[in-house]
Amino acid sequence: MKKRVLVSGGAGYIGSHVTVELIQAGYDVVVADNLSNCDLTCFEGVKKITGKDDIPFEKIDCCDYASVDRLFSEFRIDAVIHFAAFKAVGESVAEPLKYYRNNLLSLLNILEAAKTHGGCNVLFSSSATVYGETDKLPVTEESPRQPAISPYGNTKQICEDILRDTVKATAAYGNEVMPGIDKPGPVKGTALRYFNPIGAHPSALIGELPRGVPNNLVPYITQTAIGKRECLSIFGNDYPTPDGTCLRDYIDVVDLAKAHVAAVARMLEGRMAEDYEIFNIGTGRPVSVLELVNTFEKVNNLKLNYRFTPRREGDITAIWADPSRAEKELGWKAQRTVEETLAAAWAWEKHLAGKE
Ligand code: UDP
Repeated sequence: MKKRVLVSGGAGYIGSHVTVELIQAGYDVVVADNLSNCDLTCFEGVKKITGKDDIPFEKIDCCDYASVDRLFSEFRIDAVIHFAAFKAVGESVAEPLKYYRNNLLSLLNILEAAKTHGGCNVLFSSSATVYGETDKLPVTEESPRQPAISPYGNTKQICEDILRDTVKATAAYGNEVMPGIDKPGPVKGTALRYFNPIGAHPSALIGELPRGVPNNLVPYITQTAIGKRECLSIFGNDYPTPDGTCLRDYIDVVDLAKAHVAAVARMLEGRMAEDYEIFNIGTGRPVSVLELVNTFEKVNNLKLNYRFTPRREGDITAIWADPSRAEKELGWKAQRTVEETLAAAWAWEKHLAGKE
């Protein structure tokens, strides 16, 4: 029987790419999303790419336990990939309670349901933000986490800990019936720490759809190139890096999606070395903001309007991954070049412009 994966937040940017790769790898998928930060554009794109018109879509809010519980009762769920969370760093500073409530409660509900319905595999989308600023680069999974500088970053750390502790506690359950719980079962957990996901599906049918002014670099670049924004601000050119701009590890969203499939397969096929595992998902290749901008111009044969402005508060100088654990344990490695990724990001922006 086909294994079924629940993708919470599956209508969003990363969730939609993961849904495509899961379906193409032969899994059944249930997409759950409350559409609070996206519409159905990407979900429709997923159906087109996969040629599957009957992907179950549940418009639910994971902060509502009854809805999550109903999903687990209705479908036999073998694994959950949990994306449903808010992700704007600046907004989280202004509205911490909104971030803590949404990001923590949705994971708590997923785990409660996973445990109550006989156990489940839960993959959590974490972030390289947990490493903070460090001189010891690249970072491995053993690099220490540092106190978060934003409530958003803090929710990633707290959620990792909630998952780790739940895995540890439920390992003892076995199939033994606990008071008040019908069929308790063990929860196994994987945290994937993403570096900077960028790009879009090569079909240009799904991609990033920021609401309002983009916070992230690549959507800001593509929107400037298409004329939606006047000028890209490069935040700081006085960092202690070769060209003065920050260094990041930009990971193609399709490569990132494939990492999820590899991690879910490892869980479902009982190949985990530990019941809770962490993997860095990056390329291992540092790229500066200026290099990214120059590559975008070159590969797409255009000129981008940009200027240097002061540093953005909270930005770190440099971070990139040591992705060797993912390569060794998951058999996964980033494949696409920055050029391919930036061409895909531009094709997606043009696709959107054509629809307007
Ligand atoms: N950045 C920039 N201009 C922008 C947005 C981002 O110069 O309009 C820079 C930012 O300072 C950082 C890099 O691009 O060095 C990546 O930023 P992003 O917000 O995409 O991801 P982060 O690394 O902050 O999670």
